[in-house]
Amino acid sequence: MAIGNPYEPDFDVAIVGYGPVGQALAALLGRAGHRVAVFERFGEMYRLPRAVHLDHEIMRLLQALGLSEVLADEMVPVDDYRWFGADGDLLLRFEPRSPAPSAWEGDYMFFQPELERAIDGRACAPAGVTVERGWTAEGLEQSDGQVELTLRRVSEEEPGRLALTGETRTVTARWAIGADGANSFVRGAAGITRRDLGFQERWLVVDAEPHEMAALSHLPIATQHCDPTRPTTVVQSGPRHRRWEFMLLPDERASDFEDPDRVWALLEPWYRSQDGPLTRSAVYEFRSMVADHMRRGRVLLVGDAAHLTPPFLGQGLCSGLRDAANLAWKLDLVLRRLAPAELLDTIDSERQPQNEAIIRLAIELGRVLCQLDPQAAAERDAMLRQVEAPPPLDLPPLSDGLLHRPGDGTSDPLAGSLSVQGVVRRGGREGRFDDVVGRGFQLIVAGGDPLAALSSDQRALIDALDMSVASLDPAAPGGVRDVDGRLMAWLTDHEAHAVLVRPDFYVFGSCRSAGELPELLDDLRSQLQLTLTSTTAGALP
Ligand SMILES: Cc1cc2nc3c(=O)[nH]c(=O)nc-3n(C[C@H](O)[C@H](O)[C@H](O)COP(=O)(O)OP(=O)(O)OC[C@H]3O[C@@H](n4cnc5c(N)ncnc54)[C@H](O)[C@@H]3O)c2cc1C
Repeated sequence: MAIGNPYEPDFDVAIVGYGPVGQALAALLGRAGHRVAVFERFGEMYRLPRAVHLDHEIMRLLQALGLSEVLADEMVPVDDYRWFGADGDLLLRFEPRSPAPSAWEGDYMFFQPELERAIDGRACAPAGVTVERGWTAEGLEQSDGQVELTLRRVSEEEPGRLALTGETRTVTARWAIGADGANSFVRGAAGITRRDLGFQERWLVVDAEPHEMAALSHLPIATQHCDPTRPTTVVQSGPRHRRWEFMLLPDERASDFEDPDRVWALLEPWYRSQDGPLTRSAVYEFRSMVADHMRRGRVLLVGDAAHLTPPFLGQGLCSGLRDAANLAWKLDLVLRRLAPAELLDTIDSERQPQNEAIIRLAIELGRVLCQLDPQAAAERDAMLRQVEAPPPLDLPPLSDGLLHRPGDGTSDPLAGSLSVQGVVRRGGREGRFDDVVGRGFQLIVAGGDPLAALSSDQRALIDALDMSVASLDPAAPGGVRDVDGRLMAWLTDHEAHAVLVRPDFYVFGSCRSAGELPELLDDLRSQLQLTLTSTTAGALP
């Protein structure tokens, strides 16, 4: 009979919360071969959406999870996004970006339960993730080598209504992750406070499942009605659903909208009861919060547990999924004993400034859209009618953390920016770079043999990190044909010979010549404090 090591924690990673962010993180870590368990209080997947929009960067993450084909019919590209003014006339029309840097359309509308179903069934399950529903986390203790999580069984007599039972258990893990949403238990238990960035508005969110989507095809995919008498958002949420969001006025109470007639009256210009049923009508308070830290010891926070973003940019979930992408590769290196646990401190320095900058952008946009003063709204409209529609928004890059700093004191123009994914051909295979060449760390050079000038240590680094290496000269060793020319254009625009991309799609750094490539790789190794020889000795971090 095999006897387990009594000092071995039950799991490498225990995640509290199986919302979309907990799911994505579990799938990424499970695919990397780690023992991952997720504990979720609700017995079933939530059947209603909150998020309706995601962007090209997140599509690339779904591609990495093997879900892009599974979800192909569920993702509706945003080919038309318009704002209307107080007078009801067009204010701005935003041009779509196709393809966006990540080799997908710039923006998509989707139905959140389908996304969650796909991550759960097609990414977490095949990766061997343990998902335990019906348990609420209620205790968390950290010691040197592990975290102990106390869970209480909950019963759900009717969907969504939880009752605590007397049954409890504890599990141990090397790392615990709070992916448990806005009111995160894990955040509180780890003693992490949060700041309010000052935005607070109540909006009525109404979801509908029309009998026939074709009958509503006259409605654009996404519109904002900047009407000071009732700021309103109207969007399509995936192929079979529509969503309306109405700002509550100062003298209105949430309970006013428990009356279905009031809701139907608001929908009147677009949708009537004969068009199909409503699936939800609820008042949400849109808030802006950031946790003061995302790591404390062996506990990390991701998603809404760490930040709340008003939904005007459709970025709250996207930010959470970026947290998951960022944390997954770092935790993987730490669990494989290739890098020390201090690597996880860069979660704070990388994710916090970007998350906060996105929240501030969303607040700014919210203030433009939520204008209730008719005079100010008229001035806003007059001003906006004089300007061209702004180009698609580029989100702020990473400003700190694990980024290349050239030894000569200059700054690297690409370090911290979101990388470009191109369409390439290698051998008989043509497609997106990550599918054809590989994901993870990527080293892309403009020409020549990428490995030619490298020492055995630098080659060992490439092997240890299982880097995907490509030269954009198809005749060179490791060559690919740059089919759509976007990779070469990207390098040329930045006068780069090589770029080194991290597994979360952000650029670690670039260099201008083949001669500088060794320094770029050495800097990565040094910043990761990579241990290439350790295999067995000692406890896992
Ligand atoms: C109206 C609205 C529209 C939005 N639109 C967009 C959009 O278009 N695009 C976008 O990117 N974002 C959008 N957002 C934001 C987005 O919905 C959230 O950022 C996202 O759902 C957060 O995901 P999460 O996995 O971090 O948290 P959640 O989805 O909240 O999941 C947390 C999970 O943890 C579980 N849990 C909590 N406590 C415990 C416990 N103690 N024990 C066990 N389990 C626990 C919960 O049951 C839940 O399943 C919108 C939000 C709202 C309200």
